[in-house]
Amino acid sequence: MDESLYSLRMHARRESRHLSGGERLVGAADLEKATAALVRRALEHPRGRADEIRLAVDLVPPAEIRHGRLLDLRTYLVADYRQGRQAARRLLRDAGISTGAVSAAMDWIAQGAAPDGRAMRGAMLIDAESGARLEADPARGVRASRMDLTPTAEAELRARLGEQGLDNSHVREALVLASKVLAAPQVLAELCWSDDPDYTAGYMATRDLGYVRFPQLKPLGEERGGRAFFVRGAGLDREGLVAFLEQAVLLIDRIGTIGGAEEWRD
Ligand code: AMP
Repeated sequence: MDESLYSLRMHARRESRHLSGGERLVGAADLEKATAALVRRALEHPRGRADEIRLAVDLVPPAEIRHGRLLDLRTYLVADYRQGRQAARRLLRDAGISTGAVSAAMDWIAQGAAPDGRAMRGAMLIDAESGARLEADPARGVRASRMDLTPTAEAELRARLGEQGLDNSHVREALVLASKVLAAPQVLAELCWSDDPDYTAGYMATRDLGYVRFPQLKPLGEERGGRAFFVRGAGLDREGLVAFLEQAVLLIDRIGTIGGAEEWRD
């Protein structure tokens, strides 16, 4: 695609706290509809109606648009969130993340990684060896931004996800987000579970394994959630990484394989 796109970003707050966000890359013809959908999301969030909605719209010239592919997706069925976290821990360890770094990330997410004990607006950057937090602002964290699917890739993805009963915006958007995050060579793995109290699923992701979903990574009703991007701390160009995650424009035009669900076996 060689036409300009608009980067559309939404951030909503309620009672001075992060409530919801959204990221789109759309042509001029779709901008109005995409904006209305993000405003509706902020007004109909399960944690309540937004009282502040910030929208940013920026034209992106074709030369600034990078193209990419989605990670593969698979699901492991687990008995409960404890087994889900155990399984995610194993896969992160196998991917070379130290036990201490995995525990630190899980503990921070579970206790609310922002200084006020609530969910952060963005992600933690965690040293994959020491477990130290490397993000400059521990309340905001790092936001992965300016990424989306082409309309054709989105239609294909929705059809494939639909066959698995997974065609919902949580899965689609998290898969796009993780695909941008793992497009950064400095990131070794990601771990996420939602701050939406109705949504218990979460995932870990690496370039090799792809996006590995667990239907339960937290108990129902829990409002604390978050994301950790595990990085190699030694020699890290943090500003370069953050500039890529927050500013580079990534349009995903190829989907990966969408696998079925398997039972997790210890
Ligand atoms: P969500 O999956 O939208 O419920 O988000 C779960 C957590 O991931 C939030 O509490 C934030 O800490 C973090 N998060 C949400 N959106 C982003 C983003 N675009 N980039 C980095 N982290 C995010």
